[in-house]
Amino acid sequence: MKYQLICQACNKIFSSESGLYTCPACQSSLRVEYVDPRTVFNDHNHLPGIWKYFSKLPLESESFISMGEGSTPLLHLGNRTSSTIDIWVKNESLNPTGTYKDRPASVSVSKAKELGAKGVVVASDGNAAPAVAAYAAKGDVPCIVLMPQKTPELRYLQAAAYGAKIILIDGSINDCLDIAREIANKTGYHNCCTANTVNPYQIEGNKTLSFEILDQLLEVPDWVAVPVGGGGVLSAVGKGFQEMKKSGRIERIPRILAVQAQNCAPLVAAFSGDGVIRKLEQVQDTIAITIALPYPPDGEMALDYIKQSNGHAIAVTEEEIMSSVFHLSGKHGILSEPSGAVSFSGLMKAHDQGIIQYGEKCVAILTGSGLKTIEAFKKGLENVISVPNDIESVLTKLN
Ligand SMILES: *Cc1c(COP(=O)(O)O)cnc(C)c1O
Repeated sequence: MKYQLICQACNKIFSSESGLYTCPACQSSLRVEYVDPRTVFNDHNHLPGIWKYFSKLPLESESFISMGEGSTPLLHLGNRTSSTIDIWVKNESLNPTGTYKDRPASVSVSKAKELGAKGVVVASDGNAAPAVAAYAAKGDVPCIVLMPQKTPELRYLQAAAYGAKIILIDGSINDCLDIAREIANKTGYHNCCTANTVNPYQIEGNKTLSFEILDQLLEVPDWVAVPVGGGGVLSAVGKGFQEMKKSGRIERIPRILAVQAQNCAPLVAAFSGDGVIRKLEQVQDTIAITIALPYPPDGEMALDYIKQSNGHAIAVTEEEIMSSVFHLSGKHGILSEPSGAVSFSGLMKAHDQGIIQYGEKCVAILTGSGLKTIEAFKKGLENVISVPNDIESVLTKLN
């Protein structure tokens, strides 16, 4: 047996063959734990993308569904001009559907198929839906996507293009999540929502971010900045580094910086306050739409990983987010979804506030592609001019 499932609440242990998603005793979330923590990390180099870490992924056989997810570039942006933190970015927009969500989708849809699922269901009005839909298409697994009826059409076209059935529900995203759970209880469809509370396999795909960062940087960074919506990807980054430490591969783990948009920052509020995560009663609009969750389902786990890493949590304003977005596109040629660029904003702000010191090596995970939210780049229209159809007019406008 490669791994076991351990209940996060009652610590009961279940075998991997159980194929469980939540604890049958107390309904709490499960954690995948590898039986031999010392297995090496990249002993499967013949496999594509994230699958080169096969011995640390919860699949029994190599018949996974893959489209080359992972192996994204870690780019050096250099030292900041006005000071000197050493900034690297992990460009997740280069994944098959445009976001890091392909890492968990590849693992969770493969796992569902390995367990004999009749299909997969996901409730999402963000990037999880297209990712799960794409891997379901590639793996020939039927896929149901649940979204609130008020979701703009642009946010379900991609998932629909992959052939998923989109069911619009006259309710909130939380209602959709509840219905996804019911579908999984009542049918042979498996729940591929990204929260760890419903699917313990997603986080396993996400943690490959940490493995890759270490393989690419060849040393442990001082800080890794991660955007937080539900808190799943941050927890996974924490788990990845901790597994590497347990295996003896590294001696220390980096400090994790959680970043949220100030207009919707329940995790930052808990971190700076009494440590209790409270659902926001109202959420102000933010350009970082895919991370605007009033309650982070994996927030407690995320807070734990932040504390264990001696990390920090910070909120950034709309102006700071947009300034990072245009800095990344205009100075580095990287079109980042605003929700992903908050990690870069957070590093800048944490440095300005003295949390990150001079000379420290920092990695920002840019979680998604700006093509997902191209309308966020309208300010770029400042660069557009119209001229008469003659070369003289054009020449006067070149500079
Ligand atoms: C889903 C998502 C996040 C946040 O991930 P959580 O696990 O919900 O915290 C961040 N950025 C992008 C682009 C996403 O799609």
